[in-house]
Amino acid sequence: MRQALPGHGASRGSALGRARVRLPHALDVAEEHIEAAAVDAELIKLHTAIDTVRIEMHALRDRLHGALAHEVGEFLDLHTLLLDDPELLQGLDALIRTGLYSANYALRLQRDRLAAVFAGMEDAYFRSRIDDIDQVIGRIHAALHRRDSDVPGVAGEILVTDNVAPAELAQLQSQGVMAVVTSAGSALSHSAILARSLHLPLVVGAVLALQKINDGDVLMVDGGNGLIVLEPNAGDLRAHRLRTRELARERKQLHRLRREPTRTSDGVDIRLFANAESREDVAEAHALGAAGVGLYRTEFLFLQRNELPDEDEQFRAYRDVALGMTGRAVTIRTLDLGADKADRTGLALTDEPNPALGLRGVRLSLARDGLFETQLRAIVRASGYGPMRVLVPMVSSREEIITVRLLLKKVTHDLRSEGHEIAEHLPLGAMIEVPAAAIALPTFIGAIDFLSIGTNDLVQYTLAADRNNEALGDLYTPLHPALLRLLSMIIKTADARGKPVAVCGEMAGDALFAPLLLALGLCEFSLHPATLLEVRRAIRGCDHAQLRASAPALLRARDRQSIEKWLLQFSL
Ligand code: PEP
Ligand code: MG
Repeated sequence: MRQALPGHGASRGSALGRARVRLPHALDVAEEHIEAAAVDAELIKLHTAIDTVRIEMHALRDRLHGALAHEVGEFLDLHTLLLDDPELLQGLDALIRTGLYSANYALRLQRDRLAAVFAGMEDAYFRSRIDDIDQVIGRIHAALHRRDSDVPGVAGEILVTDNVAPAELAQLQSQGVMAVVTSAGSALSHSAILARSLHLPLVVGAVLALQKINDGDVLMVDGGNGLIVLEPNAGDLRAHRLRTRELARERKQLHRLRREPTRTSDGVDIRLFANAESREDVAEAHALGAAGVGLYRTEFLFLQRNELPDEDEQFRAYRDVALGMTGRAVTIRTLDLGADKADRTGLALTDEPNPALGLRGVRLSLARDGLFETQLRAIVRASGYGPMRVLVPMVSSREEIITVRLLLKKVTHDLRSEGHEIAEHLPLGAMIEVPAAAIALPTFIGAIDFLSIGTNDLVQYTLAADRNNEALGDLYTPLHPALLRLLSMIIKTADARGKPVAVCGEMAGDALFAPLLLALGLCEFSLHPATLLEVRRAIRGCDHAQLRASAPALLRARDRQSIEKWLLQFSL
């Protein structure tokens, strides 16, 4: 029967497909016993499910090609090995045979036993392997519950799960997953950012999803407004068709703006840079006429693998971004691992009590021997192929930026002596995303060449509201007087010192906020190419002088409601 489930739109696009439910890591299965006579049948049920998963993994492996085959293949091979692991299989059989547990409950017990073994390991890398066990056991559990044996492979399906890690998303897309629905998560998480980059519709915070949706159910998902319709009726299907057509029409209209300048109605030119994570993003940014790449998140090179990328591998990646942008500036952000961007290489700590306030960003790069130097060498070498800038994440003090500047100087000197052809000057910038950096900006602005405001984190740290915690609801918002005042202060300080300043958080990619950022004096935006044309259209509809004149009223706003009221006057 039709049912509408609410969620939050995190990556736009609509999808119609069958659900593939992946249960949360800690399997919530109550203790269940079977009769001695049912043991053989239970074992057959379990092993049929394991065989199904094995076949699916092989089929998936065969479908992968190109770069993904290498990256994702490694991950799949590990899971296939785990499926054949005698420890895992014999343990399950024994629980059913001698403990007279159901296959379901045996999976849960076995998972918890292995989790306890892994949790006791010294090595952070091995400790993190429990995620793989969870995924394999989760797959077997899902296969046990497949109601309908004709549910096709994952291609064309909508994944319904508790949460999804950034590293998994590319894999899911390569499997043909059309959309993802999560019961937890937030639209500001790195997973959501990556989903937008992959144009993979994502709905987060759908709290009822795992309760209500079963494997094989037909779902309609709208990643824009967050609506999920279970077993859609004729009216829903019609709405889906119309929506798909409307989106195609809108895309066509926006397409016409590809070659138009980003100029306000009163003739002020605004620069739109692109946030890029992949080669496809770079190609799209170039095609849409972005002024350059304003934020290249290098941590994606470090995810979903077990060893660190060496200098040459990093160099090739950065060089290709420079070549892809054909002479337009490319801003490479140094590694921002940590918090929700945990890697498999063991670089970032996995057991920090408060990871958002822990060893992430520049702190981690400086704490690990040789890590920063290798990355800076790769970036500086790539500067021989096009204009490059270095952007440092999570700066909180003048000392950090001075340390980076010295290291950059040393690396540049070394590379020149080694005979590399590199840029004469590589601008060094700081992400302003920690309130301390925003407030103390005058103390270190002299040591940087440009700045980029990371509103995703600046909102989180200013309002003490976790960007990934959906339970906080409206508490996480850029529409807070404290944030507007900080933004205004940063932009004024930068302007007074003649330093370019951009906003590169998700706020810059939301056309609704364009008038507000222009009013505060922002002239550079860095945003994902997926919304670049929408933001260009919004800016082209703005009167710059009128917005600037209305900035004092905006800064006087005392609460979210009055900021929204201010915005409403300018919404197009
Ligand atoms: C930000 O914090 O706004 C930002 C752009 O960095 P990230 O989202 O990668 O933390
Ligand atoms: Mg950030």
